[in-house]
Amino acid sequence: MVTMAKSIIIIGAGMGGMAAGIYGQINGFQTRIFEMHNLPGGQCASWERKGYTFDACIHHLFGCSPESKIHELWLELGAMPRELAYTKECVSVISPEGKLFFDYYDPGQLRDHLNQLAPKDSKVIQDYIEGIKLFEKVDIMDELMLGGFSGIVKHLPTAIIALKWFKPTMADFAQRFSDPFLRQAFPLLEYSLPDCPFAIHLAKHAAGHKKDIAWPVGASKAFAGSIAEYYESLGGEIHYNSRVKKIITKNGRAVGVKLEDGTEEYADIIISNADGRKTLLDMLEGQFMNEKLTKYCGEPVDETNWAVQVFLGVDMDLSGEPSSLVMLLEEPVRIAGHETKSLEMQTYSFDRTMAPEGKGVIKVELVSRYSYWKELARDRSRYEEEKEKVAEQVIGFLPGIKGRVEAVDVPTLVTWERFMGGTHGFVNMPKKEFDFLGSLYKNDGMTVPGLENFYFVGTWATSAGALFVNALSGKKTIKMICLKEGVKFASSLFAADHRVKESLLV
Ligand SMILES: Cc1cc2nc3c(=O)[nH]c(=O)nc-3n(C[C@H](O)[C@H](O)[C@H](O)COP(=O)(O)OP(=O)(O)OC[C@H]3O[C@@H](n4cnc5c(N)ncnc54)[C@H](O)[C@@H]3O)c2cc1C
Repeated sequence: MVTMAKSIIIIGAGMGGMAAGIYGQINGFQTRIFEMHNLPGGQCASWERKGYTFDACIHHLFGCSPESKIHELWLELGAMPRELAYTKECVSVISPEGKLFFDYYDPGQLRDHLNQLAPKDSKVIQDYIEGIKLFEKVDIMDELMLGGFSGIVKHLPTAIIALKWFKPTMADFAQRFSDPFLRQAFPLLEYSLPDCPFAIHLAKHAAGHKKDIAWPVGASKAFAGSIAEYYESLGGEIHYNSRVKKIITKNGRAVGVKLEDGTEEYADIIISNADGRKTLLDMLEGQFMNEKLTKYCGEPVDETNWAVQVFLGVDMDLSGEPSSLVMLLEEPVRIAGHETKSLEMQTYSFDRTMAPEGKGVIKVELVSRYSYWKELARDRSRYEEEKEKVAEQVIGFLPGIKGRVEAVDVPTLVTWERFMGGTHGFVNMPKKEFDFLGSLYKNDGMTVPGLENFYFVGTWATSAGALFVNALSGKKTIKMICLKEGVKFASSLFAADHRVKESLLV
């Protein structure tokens, strides 16, 4: 007897949505994605302006080493193998006097460099290096998120020792230095987030040294594009410029979606990769809210880093500049409605595709508030004026740039909101206490009580701002669906093929 493949509609072609599509196709479902934008990738976005490429997303792409389990995930999704570029430092910091600290990935080079900068701090420097080496022994993200039980047990003794690094923050560790420059620099090393657990920085360092962190040549658009291409090669469909307005339900089951143009599309299963607040409150019209979901839908974060990005295409060769730099300022300045003592920036000369030969791209990322820009956006000309002012301020801080800027773009949280529909732009995670183990093993947030055949993938389900974690959520969801439907899950076409052969033998 021939059984019809079950159909799945996915709202959004972000990492989670596309991954759900790929594993869905591999496991015999008929999937379609409805995406409001005209591009795949969601937050994983880059675009061209006057011959320059501006990348709003990737700083550090995990899963670049063939040894890592995250790499396997990218292989399954068609994102690897690909051309990658590596940097020798994680980040660097420059003082107003021109003192430079390179946070080298290589622990030996890092130790020597730090000892030269701050010989009196040799004890804390040694602790830093040992911390990095410890995290090289146990790949916490790989083993906990993608590893099996045996991998976790094998790494448990080292992981227990590593636990001591989860309590101190970047700012706490910085306090241990006597050198004033390093005391100022260290809190800012992890995306200028002084409250970030120091363990995250150590884990990133270890991954960088193992070459598990790299940059996908061609930027975020090319990375996301290869996943979309693979999805379509498996027979999946992406319908662009197709905003979902409503999820159609019948007797407590999700049965379809209604698009902005009024079209209705039906399927056996609906998956949302869109913002949770918009999905629950608008698309589902608040019908399935309970106490917990109401709490999750509470007011999202207003102030965040990366809220404003200033992109500059400059007629300058930036190949001698650090790839990622935090510039400490002499005096605090007010910029984008926020007072800051430092500017965080990236240059991209490691990727020849980012700018015409001999030219370069700089991205400066600023802390700001969603409400600040939302208020300005009520009057388009005030909004544009403020963006221009911010760009001018930034240009004024960068030596030698004035007069050589050929392209400028200043996306804000309101821009993200416009293109991707998320509440407060990308700052749309559910309002819940961060539960590290919960986010790894529980399916909390992936389903909606009282609504059958409906699943969430992506940031709303994971509460994590990382490409691989959100892609992984697509895999987890299709696994859940396979379990429910009695289908043996396959993670690749090869495994699916093998599964068919096995079943023919029975
Ligand atoms: C500035 C920035 C820098 C980052 N840097 C890194 C980094 O260096 N490394 C890293 O690993 N991660 C990074 N991240 C995080 C990473 O990009 C995200 O975690 C990941 O892309 C989110 O994937 P997602 O599955 O949640 O989908 P999203 O990217 O949120 O995509 C959701 C999709 O749904 C679509 N959609 C929404 N509503 C509708 C609707 N009603 N109808 C149809 N379609 C809809 C949107 O248009 C979008 O395409 C960064 C994120 C940001 C914002």
